[in-house]
Amino acid sequence: MSTFSTHNFANQKALIRVDFNVPIKNGVITDDTRIRGALPTIKKVLADGGSVILMSHWGRPLKDIEKKPNLTLADFSLKPVVPYLGKLLGIEVQFADDCISDDAVKKAADLKPGQVLLLENLRYYKQEEKGDKDFAEKLSKLGDVYVNDAFGTAHRAHASTAVIAQFFPGDKKMFGLLMEGEVIAAEKVMHNNQKPFTAIIGGAKVSDKILIIEQLLDRATDIIIGGGMAYTFFKAEGGQIGNSLCEDDRLEMAIALLKKAQDKGVCIHLPADSITADKFAADANTSSALSNEIPIGWMGLDIGQMAIAQFSKIIGNSKTILWNGPMGVFEMDKFQHGTKAIALAVAEATKNGAYSLVGGGDSVAAVNKFGLADQVSYVSTGGGAMLEYFEGKELPGIAAIKS
Ligand code: AMP
Repeated sequence: MSTFSTHNFANQKALIRVDFNVPIKNGVITDDTRIRGALPTIKKVLADGGSVILMSHWGRPLKDIEKKPNLTLADFSLKPVVPYLGKLLGIEVQFADDCISDDAVKKAADLKPGQVLLLENLRYYKQEEKGDKDFAEKLSKLGDVYVNDAFGTAHRAHASTAVIAQFFPGDKKMFGLLMEGEVIAAEKVMHNNQKPFTAIIGGAKVSDKILIIEQLLDRATDIIIGGGMAYTFFKAEGGQIGNSLCEDDRLEMAIALLKKAQDKGVCIHLPADSITADKFAADANTSSALSNEIPIGWMGLDIGQMAIAQFSKIIGNSKTILWNGPMGVFEMDKFQHGTKAIALAVAEATKNGAYSLVGGGDSVAAVNKFGLADQVSYVSTGGGAMLEYFEGKELPGIAAIKS
C-alpha cells in the first residue's frame, strides 16, 4: 500500500474510483456534495502533472429497468456530471460513453497530463456488482495507478471497488484523500481512542444496532442509548412504556446486553425521562414522563430534560465520542430538542478537546440540520460503509488496498 499524499503522479494516469452517485433531477445535479468531496484528490493528481480517469456508479440501472421497462440506460447516465465537474475544475472534462469500450480505452490512452476523463456508469454492466474479475481487469488496464476515493461503496466487493486492486502492485494502489479521511477517523475511534470513550447510539430499532453495541462493549467506557430503541430496554426491565416503539422479540437480548455491559465494566445510560406524545404526528399533544412510567395511550418520541442533562454531563467528560442515530423523532419540530441538545453537547466537548465522529445515517442529517457539522471533528459521508466498519466487519474496499 502506498500513500496518496506522498505519491508523485507526474506523467501517470490515475484511475480513480469516485462516488458520483449524486441526486440528478431532469439532468440537473441537486446536491453536489459527493462531487466536491472528490475534488482535492483529482486536483492533487493534476497538480503533480498526472492525468485522471474517473469511474463511478450511478443508481441501479439494470435492476430499475427490469422493474420499469419505460426506463433506459440513458436515464442513468453520468453525462450531466461532465459540464458540472468541468466548471468546478476550470477545465474541459472528457467523457467515454462506455467504461470498457474501445473508445474508452483509446480516450484513456490518449489522455495528456492535466486532462480528465469520466467513464460512463459502471453499473451498465452487471459484472460490476458481481465483482467480475475479467471486467475488473479490463478497467484496470485504463490507468497506471488505482485510487479508491469512494468510501460509500467500500463495504461492497464490486469490480471497481475491490476486485480491481489485485491488478496493481502495492505501490500503485491507494486510498484517495476523501477515503483516507474516513479510514483515519474510523480507526481513530475504534482502535486508537482516548478514554473516556462515549458512544451515543440512537435511532429506531435495537435490532439494527445490536452488532455495533456488541463491538462497543469491548471499546467504549460509556454507551448512551436514546431514540426509539431505548424503550425495548425499559420494557425488558419491567418498565411501563405505553405505546412507545418496542421490539418484543428483542427483550431477552436487551437484558443480555445490559448484563454483558455490566460484566465488562461498561456503563450503559438510558434516558431517565421522555417527551411523550398522544400520537406519532407533528401536531400531537405532548407531555413528559419518566421513561419507564409512560402511560398507556402515550409514546416516547424524544428524550426529556433530565436525560439531556444526564447525557450532556457524560459527553462533556469524554475524550472520544462516536455518535450514531438520533435521540428522538428529530424530523418533527416538537421532538427535535433532545437530538439538538446532544449535538450541542458533542460540539461543546469537541471545542474542549474531545475527538468526535458522527457517522452513519440520521445523526449526520441531524448535525447538518442544526448547522453543527463544522463543530464536530469528523462527519462521515459513508453511511452503510461506516456502519459496517463499526460492526467490526472487514470492508472489502479497504482490505483490497491494504493487502
Ligand atoms: P435509524 O435509521 O435506526 O438510525 O433510525 C432513525 C429514525 O429513528 C429517525 O427517522 C427517527 O425519527 C426515528 N426515531 C428516533 N427516536 C424515535 C422514537 N422515540 N420513536 C420512534 N421513532 C424514533
